[in-house]
Amino acid sequence: MSSDSSSALELDQSDSFAHVREQFYLPRDAIYLDGNSLGLASKAAERVLLEAFDEWKTHAIDGWSHGQRPWLYNAEALGARLAPFIGAKPGEVVATGSITVNIHQLLSSFYKPTPQRSLILADSLNFPTDLYALQSQLRLHNLDIAEHLLCTTSRDGHLLDEDDIIANMSDRVAILWLPTVMYRSGQLLDIARLTDEAHRRGILVGLDLAHSVGCMPHRLHDWGVDFAVWCNYKYMNGGPGAVGGLFVHERRFGSPPGLAGWFGSDKSKQFAMDHHFTPAADAGAYQIGTPHLFSSAPLFGSLEIMEAVGIEHIRARSLRLTDYMMRQIDLELRPFDFTVVTPREHHRRGGHVSVQHNDAARIVKAMKTAGVIPDYREPNIIRLAPVALYTSYQDIEEAIHRIRRIMTDRAYDAFANERGIVA
Ligand SMILES: *Cc1c(COP(=O)(O)O)cnc(C)c1O
Repeated sequence: MSSDSSSALELDQSDSFAHVREQFYLPRDAIYLDGNSLGLASKAAERVLLEAFDEWKTHAIDGWSHGQRPWLYNAEALGARLAPFIGAKPGEVVATGSITVNIHQLLSSFYKPTPQRSLILADSLNFPTDLYALQSQLRLHNLDIAEHLLCTTSRDGHLLDEDDIIANMSDRVAILWLPTVMYRSGQLLDIARLTDEAHRRGILVGLDLAHSVGCMPHRLHDWGVDFAVWCNYKYMNGGPGAVGGLFVHERRFGSPPGLAGWFGSDKSKQFAMDHHFTPAADAGAYQIGTPHLFSSAPLFGSLEIMEAVGIEHIRARSLRLTDYMMRQIDLELRPFDFTVVTPREHHRRGGHVSVQHNDAARIVKAMKTAGVIPDYREPNIIRLAPVALYTSYQDIEEAIHRIRRIMTDRAYDAFANERGIVA
């Protein structure tokens, strides 16, 4: 049976993911399509969080070295479990900080401007916090931002052309900083090619994996990417404020952390309380202070589910769901001036579908009232993320159907235009 002619019900019945979905807490009264902003809670995440609390009660200070997950090794143990999700060796990954803090740590460690080579090459569609961090790193070096932060621009306001990025790579560029998947459009960049082109020009490559980790496989080690960061509260389902992830290629080990702290110590030296810092030999060196253990615990639980399914299967289903969603948008929403801005080709997109509409702000409010939870990005983008682990075809069919009803009934007329009010 071809998927083109199958109903959502048939697709769900022939799909082997129902038992995975059952392990998550789905909102009872709404269709959740915002798992790329905050992944849903799972029973396993809840169990491990409660276990972590129990270990505190049971072991008190001895929890650092006793119990199921001794706290002292938590960040490294979690790093080793995250490594396969980004195609890294276990010692290349540590669970620590947040995206923004980790960008600061990596730039402090690897951005060494010289008069000949001082530029950071990023892009004009990047997430604001990434750009704030890059700008403040330049400021710390007393470098003029306009002169030293080069941003590749988009031709259509949604997508980046790899050729344009490569054209900006000169021998004055020290660091290339890019997202794998663009947070607005969902475009996936050709990281292998860009890394190769950058390295040929002596440029280090740093990546933000926020919108690709947990929704597709990566090969960071083999591609030779120098360093990367990500959060674990989006497709990794680690919970609000979950600990972030940091990758440093083993080729770069031994470079001292720019922001040193005792949790970056070689474990055998950490409690010697020596005033001379001996960093860990691997990515562990780039941690700073005491790990946030209750913000790490749920991730162990979520990883159990994701490891059992396998990231290759997660990606395959994510593509089937987004294909289906795009087809439903084409079929049902054609008369209503929506434009899908996400590339259609599998190798050019991540896990969410972005549609543009001039009334996006009001439509999103009407969607929430109608029990569909999307994500809105100013000024006109609606992001819809079917998540492989817990979104069904029937969810997608029903969500698009409700959007159609909103448009047909002009139900969004009731909502004042946010931009109008604010202005
Ligand atoms: C979600 C996201 C962030 C968030 O950064 P935090 O430091 O974790 O708050 C940063 N960059 C991108 C591209 C994101 O999608």
